[in-house]
Amino acid sequence: MSAHKPVPKPNEVTQPYWDSLKRSALSVQRCKGCGTLRNYPRLVCDRCYSVECDWVDLSGRGKVHSWTITHHAFHPSFKEEVPYVLVIVDLDEGVRMMGRLRGAADEKISIGMPVQFAVDQREDGWAMPAFART
Ligand SMILES: [Zn+2]
Repeated sequence: MSAHKPVPKPNEVTQPYWDSLKRSALSVQRCKGCGTLRNYPRLVCDRCYSVECDWVDLSGRGKVHSWTITHHAFHPSFKEEVPYVLVIVDLDEGVRMMGRLRGAADEKISIGMPVQFAVDQREDGWAMPAFART
């Protein structure tokens, strides 16, 4: 039997993000003070220090900023999944985020390559951010 994967621990600040993944969307905070979008979810706006925000769904379109190929599983539950690709993506709305890139680790990847946000549904019920080549 394989090890259980670590699970997120949502709180009142991050719960809307995790809820958006469950409906296959990507929702981020938008500051009510200055309109800045922010990811990861946080209590205070980095730009104007407002604590007021709402949540907006993004298009999910973006371009690869950087990537790495993971060959070593840092948790036993990922041992059978390596190698896989983690990408850092600049989303069209100006937010940067990380996720797993779908497909084989030996497929071509390049900086600036267009990708589309996707959601990987795990067997344990959690939905995780991912990206797919377009
Ligand atoms: Zn702000």
